[in-house]
Amino acid sequence: MELIDGNLIAATIIAELKAEVAALPGRKPCIALVRIGDDPASLSYVKKKEKTAAEIGLTSRIILPPVTISQTDLFALLDQLNADPTVDGILVQSPLPKHLSEVAVFRRVSALKDVDGFNTLNLGKVAQEDETGFVACTPAGIMELLARSGVDLKGRHVVVLGRSLIVGKPVALLALQKKAGANATVTVCHSGTTNLPALTRQADVLIAAIGRAEFVTADMVKPGAVIIDVGINRVPDPTKKTGYRLTGDVHFPSVSPLASKITPVPGGVGPMTVALLMKNTLKAYRLQTAS
Ligand code: NDP
Repeated sequence: MELIDGNLIAATIIAELKAEVAALPGRKPCIALVRIGDDPASLSYVKKKEKTAAEIGLTSRIILPPVTISQTDLFALLDQLNADPTVDGILVQSPLPKHLSEVAVFRRVSALKDVDGFNTLNLGKVAQEDETGFVACTPAGIMELLARSGVDLKGRHVVVLGRSLIVGKPVALLALQKKAGANATVTVCHSGTTNLPALTRQADVLIAAIGRAEFVTADMVKPGAVIIDVGINRVPDPTKKTGYRLTGDVHFPSVSPLASKITPVPGGVGPMTVALLMKNTLKAYRLQTAS
């Protein structure tokens, strides 16, 4: 079994981006990070994004609207950022408070600054295999992780657990694309899937993104499969200072001995998501400045 080290691969991408940013003349790329409310996971994600941006030499602008902000006021804020020539990328950290529609908010972000890749136009471009758009960071990160770990999906059976717009659907579309590194046969499973273990056992590459702690167990996996664990679940653990431990959607102790390659949680897909956000920000800058 080989551990796929997301921290190491993300660090390589970050170093590549840092060199690219250092070579840019004039203004550095800027990402606006909009965080609404005090969700502790959102707080730590935004901090990590800010820190990584600084490490690469990107500027970040943190915007903290009140948790009670109306959709109309949030739209006005996004319109301002969309029109601001010094802002290249815009990210609205999810989850949003219940009174706001995530899909409507994602649609409001200009497609040219949509570094999260959730705007309708950019999701459509993934389906059309049009590389001028932005690919959502976690699915893009998974594809980079596979490519940089020497996993070619061509002709392989990829089984995706989960059909969210953020992970499951776009990663399935990416694996399906008719291009080098992809070109897989793809099965997507969800809560309505019957006999799920029979499908996961057929996977050459299993991508688990359902948000259920340690859901995938050894009996659900084909020996020699590549396992990508996207899940980030907080499981209560009184022995930890935080009171919880982080675990994925895969039961690592029983599945890892069977896998040919596997990502850990933490330290697998998570760091790639942040690295790909930075890559998208540089792409957005190049789009805005035509450089
Ligand atoms: P969502 O809750 O939006 O989607 C979960 C998906 O899993 C849904 O399609 C749901 O089915 C399916 N599902 C849930 N339970 C089951 C089950 N028992 N059997 C089969 N399918 C099931 O989650 P996200 O896609 O946003 O996130 C998934 C996980 O990935 C979470 O743990 C999240 O924290 C993590 N994540 C990690 C990131 C990273 O950077 N590493 C980034 C984004 C997410 P249905 O559609 O039928 O409801």
